[in-house]
Amino acid sequence: MNKLSNSLGAADIATALHPYTNARRHEEKGPLVITRGEGIRVYDEAGKPYIEALAGLWSVAVGFSESRLVEAAHNQMQALPYYHSFAHKAHEPSIRLGEKLVEMTPEGLDRVFFTSSGSEANDTVVKMVWYMNNALGRPEKKKFLARNKGYHGITVASGSLTGLPYNHMDFDLPAIPVTHLTCPHFYRFGHEGESEAEFTKRLLKEAEDTILREGPETIAAFIGEPLMAAGGVMPPPEGYWPGIEELCRKYDILLVSDEVINGFGRLGSSFGATHYGFTPDIMVLSKQLTSSYMPLAAVMFSEKVYDAIADNTGRIGTFGHGFTASGHPVATAVGLENLKIIEERDLMGNAQRMGERLQAGLRQYADHPLVGEVRGAGLIAGLEVVADKATKRPFDPVGKVGLAAFEIAHEEGMIIRNVGDTLALCPPLIVTETDVDEIVACMGRILDRTEAWVAEQGLR
Ligand code: PMP
Repeated sequence: MNKLSNSLGAADIATALHPYTNARRHEEKGPLVITRGEGIRVYDEAGKPYIEALAGLWSVAVGFSESRLVEAAHNQMQALPYYHSFAHKAHEPSIRLGEKLVEMTPEGLDRVFFTSSGSEANDTVVKMVWYMNNALGRPEKKKFLARNKGYHGITVASGSLTGLPYNHMDFDLPAIPVTHLTCPHFYRFGHEGESEAEFTKRLLKEAEDTILREGPETIAAFIGEPLMAAGGVMPPPEGYWPGIEELCRKYDILLVSDEVINGFGRLGSSFGATHYGFTPDIMVLSKQLTSSYMPLAAVMFSEKVYDAIADNTGRIGTFGHGFTASGHPVATAVGLENLKIIEERDLMGNAQRMGERLQAGLRQYADHPLVGEVRGAGLIAGLEVVADKATKRPFDPVGKVGLAAFEIAHEEGMIIRNVGDTLALCPPLIVTETDVDEIVACMGRILDRTEAWVAEQGLR
């Protein structure tokens, strides 16, 4: 780790407030300054390599040195570095990417609106849905249903949809009408003696009871990540999504699939909704859309939503929403090239094959004394460490052991993420068999060293 003696580190400590970082701890510890990347690896200032087993922030599909994306950005910078799409303007990269996304995404998602981040995209969803229901003459239909531990971003509206305490506490959120339902994670939220099917049934009943209690005429949309990622890598129980879809249809509630992490092959299927068998009215995409080489997100939506918005000519008539960088030409050019690479190299197929290898490899740690549950789908996985395997009792405080494992991983030359005590893996889609085996072996060393640390600290 870099210390104060390092000038870059010192300047960082002196000036920056880091996102998702304990500021006082950072002042003592300093940053890990990453200087370059190659394939699935990144390198720090001292030249030490790390396997980026979280693909940056769950996002770098094509790895860290894809020259075609550099060229696409360079070429677009030379042709037209910036233009916008307000007031009837357009440019080729955003038109072409929109067309490509309509082609790639599931049936019925025929329209696109671009933003620069997943949070902005979800704020856009909220505002589109509100605008649409005002246009349809049902101004009371504005509430959202979301889930505890769901992640949808951190801006005022998207942060309200997120269901994590540290995104709400001291930020005075939620600030929009949203009800958070039970997190659909059987291992943690299934009741004693309850089967997975019974768990699904209970969650669907909770959703329907909530809709009826609040009044279906007040509920505008249900938003969820098909597989909950940033909240701790939690696949849904069997039958959950088809059941939610049925309720949405029954009560005329829009179904929003937040695929900022799930999209573009992450789960071993093209999209999360495809993977779990449901058809959303709105889909949110980002991260792997450009492999995060450029900031970009897309809200995909149905013609039904589009028409309601487009026909709202009774009042001002103009859709008064959009960002300076909506559909930015360099970002959309990079996105288009990135999607071409994903298709040409069959990276979604690779994610499915390598995903099976990763999941099977990690499942061998289900017997490890530290591991309560190994879970995931495709190239996203979580290992939850617990104090007591039999009772699932977590460590106290939650997150202390996870953080220790995260730091041990750095020493072992691998970057993972700890979500509390769940160790998350989400490697680039380009991983090879050798890479997967290396990640799995490294995870074994991390678990063994963490177990030794737990014993040393007397944490059980
Ligand atoms: N939705 C989901 C499912 C996400 O995982 C994230 C980011 N991790 C977001 C939205 C927010 O995206 P951003 O950080 O680009 O605002």
